[in-house]
Amino acid sequence: MTTYSLLLLPGDGIGPEVMAETRRIVEWTAAATGVTFEIDEDLVGGCAYDAHGEPVTDATMEKALAADAVLFGAVGGPKWDGVGYDHRPEGGLLRLRKELALFANLRPAICYPALADSSSLKQDVVEGLDILIVRELTGGVYFGEPKTITDLGNGQKRAIDTQVYDTFEIERISAVAFDLARTRSNKVTSMEKRNVMKSGVLWNDVVSETHKRGYEDVELDHMLADAGGMQLVRWPKQFDVIVTDNLFGDMLSDVAAMLTGSLGMLPSASLGAPDPKTGRRKAMYEPVHGSAPDIAGTGKANPIAMIASFAMCLRYSFQMTDVADRVEQAIASALEAGARTTDIAKPGEAALTTTEMGDAVLAALESNAA
Ligand code: NAD
Repeated sequence: MTTYSLLLLPGDGIGPEVMAETRRIVEWTAAATGVTFEIDEDLVGGCAYDAHGEPVTDATMEKALAADAVLFGAVGGPKWDGVGYDHRPEGGLLRLRKELALFANLRPAICYPALADSSSLKQDVVEGLDILIVRELTGGVYFGEPKTITDLGNGQKRAIDTQVYDTFEIERISAVAFDLARTRSNKVTSMEKRNVMKSGVLWNDVVSETHKRGYEDVELDHMLADAGGMQLVRWPKQFDVIVTDNLFGDMLSDVAAMLTGSLGMLPSASLGAPDPKTGRRKAMYEPVHGSAPDIAGTGKANPIAMIASFAMCLRYSFQMTDVADRVEQAIASALEAGARTTDIAKPGEAALTTTEMGDAVLAALESNAA
């Protein structure tokens, strides 16, 4: 009998609300497939700071390192705005990404047919959209040293962040992008700023070299990241897989997010390198959205991004592709049948609560299975 260990880290704000609905989908999956999920749950973010004085404890890190996969909700909120930089809730997320060495962040932007008219872009621009942004997650300017603010003593301060990439970091992220492209429409667009940044020059060279050394069957384009942002809103369907660095990936994936209507719809996966012995990758799955303090506790949170993140977990950590397809199809069916939380409802349209949306996805799973 197959057994997988799952660590759930619901976090703050709407994190626990969307995680509760996802847990029901995990339980449905176990019942439908006979796979056992050994589920553990722990604190991360502001709630961990309140309980332990740090946003993620060493004990929680040990559990995360040992688990087959981690499902992460969201962290942060105004309650912790005054907490020092080293203990801020987001520090828990960064520590998890860093220590699990999750260098590849996969963010699909899929426009469900039932929601094509709720994007801020024209329907024909987004209808049928299915792109994947592969963002480098453990390097670049968010981690590079020096990272300082210095008092210059003349009434001025100087802030320094350092953008730094080594060859191996670019090689491994581009290999992930090329491998994924082969399972999709076989096209990769690499984005950087080689016109003004040395890291962009190296990025461009290494992606091209990696392409030549084993991926020439995949179509490769290079685009400057600012032009890429413009093209994403002009005609996003020209893209299949976009590979880019940590900073540009952060921004471009949020732009892509809005193509699909709501942050509440967008899942993500963060993957590490395959273990040479077992072939298994460390992995964490999380919605793109944050803790949404403005709606926390009101039952308005859309659980689809978190549920779809579990579908990615089934696909990338457990190779349960059929079940992942079924969960994604159930989301599409629920939307097709008119299920809407407030964030995706049209003005005047009735909206479901978080739990009711969970009910709708479960009902679609049951009826699609029947
Ligand atoms: P946010 O993503 O939390 O919210 C932005 C807007 O989208 C809000 O109006 C919110 O109500 C809405 N929204 C987000 N998720 C939704 C969902 N599932 N259903 C319905 N509506 C949803 O971003 P923010 O407001 O900039 O940040 C709030 C807090 O979250 C901050 O403390 C921030 O640091 C943190 N944050 C955490 C993460 C993370 O944990 N990965 C990511 C982004 C922001």
